[in-house]
Amino acid sequence: MDYFLSDIQREIRDLTRKITQEKVVPVRAELDEKEEFPTEILRVLAEVGLFGVYLPEEYGGLGGGVMELCLVTEELSRACSGVAVSYAASALGSYPILLFGNEEQKKRFLPEISSGARLAAFGLTEPNAGSDAGGMQTTAEYNGSEYVLNGTKQWITNGGEAEIYTIIALTDKSKGARGASAFIVEKGMPGFSFGKKEKKLGIRASATRELIFQDCRIPKENLLGKQGMGFLVAMRTVDKSRPGIGAQAVGIAQGALDEAIAYARQRVQFGQAIISFQAIQHLLADMATQLEAARALVYSVARYVDSGAKDISKEASMAKLFASDVAMKVCVDAVQILGGYGYMRDYPVEKMMRDAKITQIYEGTNQIQRNIIALQLIKESAGVHSR
Ligand SMILES: Cc1cc2nc3c(=O)[nH]c(=O)nc-3n(C[C@H](O)[C@H](O)[C@H](O)COP(=O)(O)OP(=O)(O)OC[C@H]3O[C@@H](n4cnc5c(N)ncnc54)[C@H](O)[C@@H]3O)c2cc1C
Repeated sequence: MDYFLSDIQREIRDLTRKITQEKVVPVRAELDEKEEFPTEILRVLAEVGLFGVYLPEEYGGLGGGVMELCLVTEELSRACSGVAVSYAASALGSYPILLFGNEEQKKRFLPEISSGARLAAFGLTEPNAGSDAGGMQTTAEYNGSEYVLNGTKQWITNGGEAEIYTIIALTDKSKGARGASAFIVEKGMPGFSFGKKEKKLGIRASATRELIFQDCRIPKENLLGKQGMGFLVAMRTVDKSRPGIGAQAVGIAQGALDEAIAYARQRVQFGQAIISFQAIQHLLADMATQLEAARALVYSVARYVDSGAKDISKEASMAKLFASDVAMKVCVDAVQILGGYGYMRDYPVEKMMRDAKITQIYEGTNQIQRNIIALQLIKESAGVHSR
């Protein structure tokens, strides 16, 4: 289907596709097996300027938006979602600065993120605060000249690998989520260390670590926005990045569909290629239809977000929810089409199935996405019915 991409968007997609074929496909199984961070691949993506596709030109970017970021993420995910999320999590970490940073903060940090010279990461989740992010316990106490951070952030993508971290912490414990603030913390600051690298079901090329703050002093200039705005920073950030999770899911599903078709064409049983069985054809038809619907929704939402629309939570959640559920289903069906071979590591579909699962969990589980969508529907209907 033609989504009428601009010339530059086509170039971005085709360049990513080429790099993915040449650099990611040959090593994805090994990266997964060894749980190895894809440093060399990220270096190549940086070299050709792909880290800055969504950032304004004045900060060294290409001047695109969420749509361009989605195109890169989708293409990388088609081969390896562990690589894709290592790339995309840097954008996630940069959004609080892009959306809420002052000019000085933007000029200082965004060009380095845009060039890929320094990776970013975003730290909201804690051991006791996942879906209920407002229940966070990490504190940032102001002592007149600096903030002192104490606490632990859990399961942070790019943790340990990134150099720039945007962190949400409580500046006023008594106010709960309303007492949260956002900060920029740099790797190497005294009192900032990392926990062990997590061992995961999927996206195993990506690094997931704890961030540990023990009397970590950061200059007051590293506060993002105003004190007390931290929860808003977090919510606006995930609104922007959730279509990207949708794109990740679309890429995984496309990769799995490609593998299933190729396999079904060459696998012979009962004297014929299994693609000649109607049962297989119907599975493929459903997979392709669901995938195209997911892609259409993700692209529409990405464009809607880039239009500057203000209220984007519902649509961002819909893109993430729908595409991730489709990816999970498409991958399970792809494994089924490959039969026993699908269950073996010799073929990439078992990895894709493992990778797909996380898209239903992170940046808010799909139950939470449904809550967000329903809440917005109720709000909108109240407006209609009170007229
Ligand atoms: C690999 C990985 C990478 C991650 N990367 C990052 C990152 O870079 N930065 C970051 O800040 N976080 C990150 N996370 C955290 C992720 O966003 C959280 O795991 C997610 O938000 C869910 O929180 P939880 O795991 O604590 O689940 P919980 O909140 O404990 O939820 C457990 C179950 O209860 C359900 N549930 C909870 N509340 C409700 C409710 N109100 N209604 C209905 N159902 C509910 C959930 O849907 C889920 O099924 C990452 C997680 C993983 C696994």
